Amino acid sequence: TAAPLGHSVIPIVNKLQDIFAQLGSQSAIELPQVAVVGSQSSGKSSVLEALVGRDFLPRGSDICTRRPLVLQLLQTKRKPDGTEEEYGEFLHLPGKRFSDFSDIRREIQAETDREAGGNKGVSDKQIRLKIFSPNVLDITLVDLPGITKVPVGDQPSDIEARIRTMIMSYIRKESCLILAVTPANSDLANSDALQIAGNADPDGHRTIGIITKLDIMDRGTDARNLLLGKVIPLRLGYVGVVNRSQEDIMLNRSIKDALVAEEKFFRSRPVYNGLADRCGVPQLAKKLNQILVQHIKAILPGLKSRISSALVSVAKEHASYGEITESKAGQGALLLNILSKYSEAFSSMVEGKNEEMSTS
Ligand code: GDP
Ligand code: MG
Repeated sequence: TAAPLGHSVIPIVNKLQDIFAQLGSQSAIELPQVAVVGSQSSGKSSVLEALVGRDFLPRGSDICTRRPLVLQLLQTKRKPDGTEEEYGEFLHLPGKRFSDFSDIRREIQAETDREAGGNKGVSDKQIRLKIFSPNVLDITLVDLPGITKVPVGDQPSDIEARIRTMIMSYIRKESCLILAVTPANSDLANSDALQIAGNADPDGHRTIGIITKLDIMDRGTDARNLLLGKVIPLRLGYVGVVNRSQEDIMLNRSIKDALVAEEKFFRSRPVYNGLADRCGVPQLAKKLNQILVQHIKAILPGLKSRISSALVSVAKEHASYGEITESKAGQGALLLNILSKYSEAFSSMVEGKNEEMSTS
């Protein structure tokens, strides 16, 4: 299956994580969370799904995402016979494996209704879902309800303020990357996404602009200037995407087909020539990967000094056991030395001193 997110980063992160795992769990590389923000039906869930490369999120022209969905991607080892196993597990249903991704979508909908009711209600109580797959990178993505202005169904009169507060509680964190989603068929100057992202990240060092629905812009208009940052500049820039339409969803069109169609869309429109690095879901994945690599680079010096000090203490412990020697007698002496250190440590434990084994 296509899983654009992480393809180029997986080998690097894997290698580093293998090395750092030996230093204890606290030294594992923690990647930033990625959250999508924007108005309702701007295409947030569609973008996340395309990034993960699987169909499993409720999407539609009405309010679909009504609770925050915290999606933790966890990389599993490929089986020796080369087969892949991908499955999901919800926090509220521990131990139950969902191998069919449409079942995951149904469970998200059912669990949304359980907490937020069946009538368009919104709740800030999270749904937590883990996706295990050999094709992903260990990263957490957050799908959030979109900003709406007019209460519908069971929504309270202050629905807009409530949703804004909920979104801010996620994107306020310095460690959160913000995907600010605006549809191309609305005015960027009215973008809820850019507005709320700007509140959380005023200098824009962790906000990527995403322009969706390039395929349904008003005839005679295009998104060239938007993508070039000429309308509203953004430090990390913009990526334009074409996701599946409501009709595609109803016809069960696959993500793979949608990616092919997107590629064709950009290739067939001369106005997007020369903007290849800002067009398409694969480019968005690439951009995210670059940001993750930057992040890893930034935390490397700290990890390096941890490795050095771990090395020093191991070398010290090693030296305390005496010289490595080839002769039988020397080896016996070394063994005796090690044993007596252990028995010292053991007896002090038994005596209740609870001391760490001395290595000096
Ligand atoms: P969200 O409310 O922001 O999560 O938006 P969804 O991902 O649920 O999408 C809302 C509606 O817009 C759905 O019917 C999608 O099929 C449709 N949609 C999303 N992105 C695009 C796009 O790039 N082009 C077209 N034509 N429709 C899109
Ligand atoms: Mg949604």
